Amino acid sequence: MPIYEYKCNECGLAFEELVSASSTEAPMCTACKSPNTVKLISACCKQSASSTSGGESYAPPAGGCGSSGFS
Ligand SMILES: [Zn+2]
Repeated sequence: MPIYEYKCNECGLAFEELVSASSTEAPMCTACKSPNTVKLISACCKQSASSTSGGESYAPPAGGCGSSGFS
């Protein structure tokens, strides 16, 4: 299961939550238990800043980033 990052709109805490693919509901804040949380950019879509090889192109895992419009 993927780990998503969420941010609480109540206390501003950013936290990670392990969620199933079928779950679409935002989890409660781990600090204040508020359901007012938003999902941040998936960690799997972050490009590594440590890439030093100029030849090889960056290849994200197929299907690993969900359906966010990449083509
Ligand atoms: Zn909170």
